[in-house]
Amino acid sequence: MGSLEHLVECDKTEYANVNWDELGFALTKTDYMFVMNWCKDGEKFSEGVLTRFGNIELCPSSGILNYGQGLFEGLKAYRKEDERILLFRPEENALRMQMGADRMCMPSPTVQQFLDAVKKTVLANKRWVPPHGRGALYVRPLLMGTSPNLGVKPASEYTFLVYASPVGSYHKGPNLNLVVEDKTHRATPGGTGGVKAVINYSPVYKALSEAKAKGFTDVLFLDALTGKYIEEGSACNVFVLKENVISTPPAHGTILPGITRKSIIEIALTFGYQVEERAVPIEQVLDAEEVFCTGTAMVVRSVASITYKEKRIEYKMGAETVAQKLYATLTGIQTGLIEDKMGWTVAID
Ligand SMILES: *Cc1c(COP(=O)(O)O)cnc(C)c1O
Repeated sequence: MGSLEHLVECDKTEYANVNWDELGFALTKTDYMFVMNWCKDGEKFSEGVLTRFGNIELCPSSGILNYGQGLFEGLKAYRKEDERILLFRPEENALRMQMGADRMCMPSPTVQQFLDAVKKTVLANKRWVPPHGRGALYVRPLLMGTSPNLGVKPASEYTFLVYASPVGSYHKGPNLNLVVEDKTHRATPGGTGGVKAVINYSPVYKALSEAKAKGFTDVLFLDALTGKYIEEGSACNVFVLKENVISTPPAHGTILPGITRKSIIEIALTFGYQVEERAVPIEQVLDAEEVFCTGTAMVVRSVASITYKEKRIEYKMGAETVAQKLYATLTGIQTGLIEDKMGWTVAID
């Protein structure tokens, strides 16, 4: 790894050759990934190493390929104005991966192992962290069962892998026009909707593709038990605002407990809004003043419209919205423009 350290040393001020202003949320391959294995002899994760980013080998009968025993995480590294790099609440991702690993019967890296892996991955790919204000390095940790597994049972070997890709600021994208999905469901009580299990995402593609074919940007799922209450989008949490009250569905197992969601709740409280984590009937959404979505990729975005049973409701958008105020504060903290009184950011260089 001597040459790697050398490269990282030399790269202090250099940037990769990227057109930063054209970045979306597609994969841009970077230089290195971090890999750490867990074996049943010893029952712990190995040291872990940075290797060149590239394809990995898997047994055709691995647990991840056959039974979807896998989890992912997502977090961003931002460059401050002075070029230093900040991670946003990375220990929350580490803890969420531990919760998910417990649900999926997998061993999980310790918080320290997770943080070390994320830091090493970001620093090794430092030249891919976009300049201040022009995006972020999106970091994607994976945890998966890799041993051969013919029977339906947990794998006996696991891999924790971290890769990264520069992404643009999602804010420039098209308006969010959601359609309420009343045929399929993302999650059921007792299922895995509350963890970032890989098995939660492709089942959503059908509803999402149909919605996109009709010109919508995302679906809004309803609870599977009654079909009366909103849950979330395909990969974002949802909030509604009416008067001084901001409401969002409770994270009780069928919605993903977003770290952006949690942060927005805390910021909204400091602004003096009343925040309610409660079941939100779809009727109340149709009656709201503002609706917005949150997630690491989009941070906070206003919803322009929601369509439910052929009826389209439009919401307040633009610079005067509460969503915009929350967005400005959160991104200000994430990028080091606003003093981080919450202790959420971690400088890593
Ligand atoms: C990741 C994710 C979110 C957002 O979580 P953040 O921690 O804010 O990125 C919301 N919903 C689903 C289904 C997700 O997978």
